[in-house]
Amino acid sequence: MMVKAVQLQICGLVGQRWSLKPCSSISFSSLASFPPIPYPNPFFKLLPSNSIARRVRFAPFHASSSSLHSSANVRNVKFCQWCGGSTKQDIPEGEEKLRAICTICGRIAYQNPKMVVGCLIEHDNKVLLCKRRIQPSVGLWTLPAGYLEIGESAVEGAIRETREEANADVEVISPFAQLDIPLIGQTYMMFLAKLKKPHFSPGPESSACQLFPLDDIPFNSLSFSSMVVTLSLYVDDLKDGKLKFHYGTIIKRPGTSPSDIHAYTLDHHMHS
Ligand SMILES: [Zn+2]
Repeated sequence: MMVKAVQLQICGLVGQRWSLKPCSSISFSSLASFPPIPYPNPFFKLLPSNSIARRVRFAPFHASSSSLHSSANVRNVKFCQWCGGSTKQDIPEGEEKLRAICTICGRIAYQNPKMVVGCLIEHDNKVLLCKRRIQPSVGLWTLPAGYLEIGESAVEGAIRETREEANADVEVISPFAQLDIPLIGQTYMMFLAKLKKPHFSPGPESSACQLFPLDDIPFNSLSFSSMVVTLSLYVDDLKDGKLKFHYGTIIKRPGTSPSDIHAYTLDHHMHS
């Protein structure tokens, strides 16, 4: 019953999960001005457990050199998506970055990050993981998650992805983590959720779905760094007796393989 005993403390109320109502009393303890912090975060336990303040307060944010200097993977756009004309690489007037600019119509191909949404499903003190049946990371375990579609909210997308990958109907309880990965242009938005009915099975993109007790989460067989971070934060929160909302930036350590999901630091870790 450990999971059920753990509740968020927010808005001055103890024992309440986050609601979907706007709440103006969230504060974040920020480590943003520190150098990049490896995860597990050695300072994490030092954060005061009673750090809930009465009004929104963010510490000054200073981007670390590692994130500023990371060279993001920008697609090489060769042709204009509007007129089909060829593009040239140039810095538009008044801007600082190289862009693909159409040599015919002059439009600029701006590239923006994609949002990945997913669910961390709690059930009987276990979490639901799916084994990937498709590349990348085929055969490895993941929380149900995928790209947000145009026309749906993040919550709707997370519920849809869970239905697609685990044939499970879930109720979203609260946001749990936003994790930015600047290098690959992705932002993960992960929600805590619970099964509406205790039924799940592998969807087309999964070869297996399984509930894992916290001590048996396969941290060495997870699909992505984002999943390692999400599940590590979750386990740490439960050990601390309080689930929080987390923000962080996943920075891949230079020179490491993309497949090494543990070769990262978690920058700018803030939590409620
Ligand atoms: Zn064009």
